[in-house]
Amino acid sequence: MTLHKSAIDRLCKRHVPLSDYSTYGVGGLANYLAMPETSADLAELLQDCKRLGMPWYIFGMGSNILFPDEPNKDMVYISLKRLVELAVRDDKWYVASGTPMSLLSLMGLIGGGDSLDFTFLLPGCVGAGIYMNAKYNASQVCDILDTVYYIDTMDPGLSVRSIPASECQFAYKQSIFQHHPWIIIGADLNTPVSSEEQISSTALLLQEWKTRGSHPSSLPSFFSFFLGEVHALAGRGIPTPQSMLDIIKYRTSKRHFDYPSCGSVFKNNYDYGVAIGSLVDQLNLKGTEYGGAIISPHHGNMILNQNHAKATDILYLMNVITEAIHQRFGFIPEPEIVLV
Ligand SMILES: Cc1cc2nc3c(=O)[nH]c(=O)nc-3n(C[C@H](O)[C@H](O)[C@H](O)COP(=O)(O)OP(=O)(O)OC[C@H]3O[C@@H](n4cnc5c(N)ncnc54)[C@H](O)[C@@H]3O)c2cc1C
Repeated sequence: MTLHKSAIDRLCKRHVPLSDYSTYGVGGLANYLAMPETSADLAELLQDCKRLGMPWYIFGMGSNILFPDEPNKDMVYISLKRLVELAVRDDKWYVASGTPMSLLSLMGLIGGGDSLDFTFLLPGCVGAGIYMNAKYNASQVCDILDTVYYIDTMDPGLSVRSIPASECQFAYKQSIFQHHPWIIIGADLNTPVSSEEQISSTALLLQEWKTRGSHPSSLPSFFSFFLGEVHALAGRGIPTPQSMLDIIKYRTSKRHFDYPSCGSVFKNNYDYGVAIGSLVDQLNLKGTEYGGAIISPHHGNMILNQNHAKATDILYLMNVITEAIHQRFGFIPEPEIVLV
């Protein structure tokens, strides 16, 4: 395919290993990968894709997706990880899609509230957090939203639209965005802006993230960045609350950041009433290996990439779990990770 000088030429890197853009460290070479920093660049890129008949795939930090070993040659992979902004607009916090969710917890901490604490050390960007309605314990991303801004890719003008959070059909790991060809650009939060100090310190944090934290989709560097920032805030007299200390304890005890993974592989089945991790435990499947992948010995609902795993190794182990749960417990678990 011959391409004219275009947004695709300007914004896409060529022949990029998708494994560098996924916390699973899995994925073959993409012919085209872009990380637009503005919604105008994103819209231009999408217009080009439409004009040239090239498919695209939107993602964030890649902490909930399994890229293929052999990507589609014409696909334009678009990570919004650099579409980063946290600003006050009309007295509300506006957060752009690529901003890490975990940054919200630090912003909340500076402001003195606790409603954003649950996002601490939750991998991934705000856009995907809204798309997946990411959660920790009883708190979900939908709890902190006021309005979501998105592009409807069927709209020829690709204009930005808005939808109140109350109309986003949020439920356990579900949102309206999973059922429409919409790209989330950002959102207004329902968390109040507390002070000038919160605004200026949040701007500094965001700058830190852009210069030091935002590049690799690596779980250890994600963890060390946010742990370092919370310690720095403690050094400035903003102590780490117990809820965040508990998160550090939980995620390190489950070894969340030691091996490449995408967190929980399956959604819990609340009708059945027992977490998938416990069912895998009952089935004695923890520690089962295939190729370079292993069912985590520490958390039955995580499959780790322990040694250059292929997507097919992870899919194989997902299948092992699915069949065993179906046979013993009578239901088919629904994948949480998105298979690209
Ligand atoms: C160690 C570990 C622990 C985890 N713990 C939790 C947890 O406690 N709770 C939890 O809920 N999740 C957890 N996850 C999963 C992950 O953090 C969330 O699903 C997160 O929302 C994914 O963000 P991302 O930017 O990495 O999304 P990606 O993996 O990049 O994308 C996920 C999906 O969102 C879509 N998407 C991304 N951005 C947009 C956008 N702007 N507009 C429209 N669609 C979009 C993609 O197409 C894809 O389908 C964990 C993951 C890891 C690796």
